[in-house]
Amino acid sequence: MSRLSGLEGEHFDVVVIGGGIIGCGIARDAALRGLRVALIERRDFGSGTTAASTRIVHGGLRYLEMFDFRLVRLDLKEREILLRIAPHLVRPLEFLIPFFGGTRLLPLKMRTGLALYDALSFDKTLPSRRWLSAARAQEADVFLRRADIRGAAAYYDARIDSPERLALENVLDAQAHQAHAFNYCEAVAISNDGGRLTGIRVRDLTGLTEASVSTRVVVNATGAWVDSVTARLTSRNPHALRTTKGIHIVCPPMNERALVLFSKVDGRLLFAIPRRGLTWIGTTDTDYSGDPAKARATRSDVEYIIRSVRDVFPALDLADVLYTTAGVRALVKRPGSESSVSRMHRVVDGEPFGPSGLISVLGGKITAYRAIAEEVTDLICRRLGVPKRPSATATTPLPGALTPPTPAQKQDKGELLRHLYDLYGCDAQKVMALAEAETELHSPLSPKYKDIGAQVVYGVRNEHCVRLGDFLRRRTLLGASDDQGWDAAEAAAALMGRELNWSARRQQEEIARYGREIAATQAFRTVRSATD
Ligand SMILES: Cc1cc2nc3c(=O)[nH]c(=O)nc-3n(C[C@H](O)[C@H](O)[C@H](O)COP(=O)(O)OP(=O)(O)OC[C@H]3O[C@@H](n4cnc5c(N)ncnc54)[C@H](O)[C@@H]3O)c2cc1C
Repeated sequence: MSRLSGLEGEHFDVVVIGGGIIGCGIARDAALRGLRVALIERRDFGSGTTAASTRIVHGGLRYLEMFDFRLVRLDLKEREILLRIAPHLVRPLEFLIPFFGGTRLLPLKMRTGLALYDALSFDKTLPSRRWLSAARAQEADVFLRRADIRGAAAYYDARIDSPERLALENVLDAQAHQAHAFNYCEAVAISNDGGRLTGIRVRDLTGLTEASVSTRVVVNATGAWVDSVTARLTSRNPHALRTTKGIHIVCPPMNERALVLFSKVDGRLLFAIPRRGLTWIGTTDTDYSGDPAKARATRSDVEYIIRSVRDVFPALDLADVLYTTAGVRALVKRPGSESSVSRMHRVVDGEPFGPSGLISVLGGKITAYRAIAEEVTDLICRRLGVPKRPSATATTPLPGALTPPTPAQKQDKGELLRHLYDLYGCDAQKVMALAEAETELHSPLSPKYKDIGAQVVYGVRNEHCVRLGDFLRRRTLLGASDDQGWDAAEAAAALMGRELNWSARRQQEEIARYGREIAATQAFRTVRSATD
């Protein structure tokens, strides 16, 4: 039976296209307000730009320089909310800004900037900025034990190691409130009657079946694909987006603390963040006009980052780079250099994107996703003419945070459960229950990692895990390890095969497909520039 068979002829209040963090957030907010919602994602939830981010929840020190105080304040408020509703996924992270050599201007600039950052987050629970002497900075990170260190500024933001799971938990909660959600399904057409939207046609890319559903509102939350999806659905292209590529390099561990650095090439702000025993350094910001799904880090992108941080990591070399990430920002089109374009989002109903009832979301950040979803859902309610129901997402914990264990309970649980808690929050208990019922599922997928077989089964049964890459990259953090989870690929494919009835050949195809995904993250070894 087709996955879409239950959809044909159904009526929804709203259909959301695009299962990135913003579309998933909109689906959740709308479902929590009692609307009848369908969410469709062409690939996997959270696999687009959401997966390519620096993975921090931040107001953005850089946006202060652009005097974008409204954006910084919005994001700092949202940072606080996310720390509260998803504490298992969003955690405080202290950044150090080291000062080397004779620089005087930078410390002065940072004093002003961080004072402003603290003022704009006056209602935060995170600690305020502090200043470290040279000796304190050297104590903080072995990497900073350098003769020329003059001191460091320190401030808090938050990390989100798996924005993909944040997107997924929004989907799962939307479903818990009667939403329908499909990955590997795309929007192929919309219908309208006298300029008013009436329905949408959806194609299941796993079985190539289609279904038509009726709806008065469609939200185009396809991020960097907004223009091309608009063109496909309405035959217009408003060229509303400025799309820029951003990459990270992932290297062996270089530093112990998250660092803010300034490019020696052009002064841009970069991050060097320790993550799962490795260091992620990025990002770039260069105009990009190709298909966002094909964005890759080229040799010149990687060399730019290496040259940018050469004074801080003099030994870092191209050969050290294990792999890269690459994604495309969708910025509201404005002239100026790439880095000077505001990250503030815009929401448009109807023209110039299509009939009224087609709501398009332009721009935005992961940090602000919940607030953007609230704004869009308010608009959906107005468009449907339903009495305004307040959004509940600022106060309702995501599923993994519904019954958080106390620190003492967490301590008692043992290493495996603590590892699972860091991914699933309180749903770790459900994964453990599977492992306890079947010994094979209690074993690690490889001696290299803590992740166990039960997670694969749980992913397939409860978390829309359709392809091997979904599991390795987006249901777990195996994809962020030094071999990107390759050592677990065979065991995970076998368990997915058992659940999904895959033949041995299909299992091998999935493994080969994942191999190609890894190769794409290492394309910089052969692709010199964007025109190669
Ligand atoms: C390098 C980089 C670093 C960043 N770092 C941060 C950071 O640290 N913190 C932060 O807050 N923000 C960060 N951002 C910004 C943030 O990642 C994005 O703003 C956010 O992820 C956008 O989410 P989205 O849902 O709009 O888009 P996406 O995540 O791209 O989702 C759009 C989805 O639409 C789907 N789609 C496309 N066409 C169709 C169709 N026809 N039918 C169905 N589905 C379709 C795509 O497959 C995709 O999954 C960063 C961005 C970049 C590029």
